Amino acid sequence: MSTSEFDIIDEFFTPGECNPELIAVGIGDDAAIINTNPDEQLVISVDTLNIGVHFPAQSSAYDVGYKALAVNLSDMAAMGAEPKWFTLALSLPSVDKAWLNEFSQGMLSLAAEHRICLIGGDTTKGPLSITVQIAGTVPVGQGLQRDGARVGDDIYVTGSLGDAAAALAICENRISVSNDLAASLLQKLNQPVARVDVGQMIRLRASSCIDISDGFAADLGHILEKSHVGAEIDLAKLPVSKALTELDIDNEQRQSFVLYGGDDYELCFTAPEEYRSDISAIAKKLSCGLSIVGKIVEGSGLFQINDHENALEMKGFDHFK
Ligand code: ADP
Ligand code: MG
Repeated sequence: MSTSEFDIIDEFFTPGECNPELIAVGIGDDAAIINTNPDEQLVISVDTLNIGVHFPAQSSAYDVGYKALAVNLSDMAAMGAEPKWFTLALSLPSVDKAWLNEFSQGMLSLAAEHRICLIGGDTTKGPLSITVQIAGTVPVGQGLQRDGARVGDDIYVTGSLGDAAAALAICENRISVSNDLAASLLQKLNQPVARVDVGQMIRLRASSCIDISDGFAADLGHILEKSHVGAEIDLAKLPVSKALTELDIDNEQRQSFVLYGGDDYELCFTAPEEYRSDISAIAKKLSCGLSIVGKIVEGSGLFQINDHENALEMKGFDHFK
């Protein structure tokens, strides 16, 4: 069997328990949670974007800057954290001031929108690669984790799924499309919306949460694995945008984008049924699309509702598979 990025983390970068008084949540969630003071915990995460892997080579510098910060904000959202500051490690093949001007505008305009500050970094020469480390805070004990889903909980997804995967297929000339549809799908790939406000508002309601970076099935799979539960999904309830619905592709391909496509940066979370009306009010207040797509069940694995014969694969994007 081939090695996945998760096998590498497990084998080489998962030391035993380390300083448990200080580290409330270590490796294995969307971010780490550090005990810093009696009221508040520090939440820290880092993500790298490499050219040709995390963004198409033809991406605008503005979009690259924007996305590098957005994907990190998304990990803060997944933890229910309030992002506060970030550092930037930049590897550049050459000095291109026009590119840097656009890049910094993309990144810093998003930072201003979220009122977070760039506080340091590192600048080196090499193939284009951008690493952002982000830090935020949560009230003690309120950070959302992947391990809290319970049998009977509803499974929610914000926004819609599959647009970014469809956009990548357009960039790579795997599907053809009208310009209008392409623009709407590409927006989702290049400037994903991190659901930071939703993450914070559901803090006291949700039992678990993850952001969908590798694909819905894979990322819900992380919740199921960490929570030791299974899930039943109603495929018809998975949210699909108007643009993806109108795209001239067969239904099988559309479903594959929705279930297995990465880069959506929507939140997938679980919550007890009693919170349905609270959570729907939160989504309404924030003007964020929200769908209940299934239920947490006993056992393990991901299934379609009333069909436990045919498990859905919990696969998604993996750098090494
Ligand atoms: P995400 O998609 O939310 O950014 P990943 O899937 O990249 O998270 O990583 C899974 C978990 O493994 C996270 O908790 C991350 O911090 C941790 N991790 C990833 N790479 C390493 C590494 N090289 N050393 C230590 N921890 C790592
Ligand atoms: Mg994440």
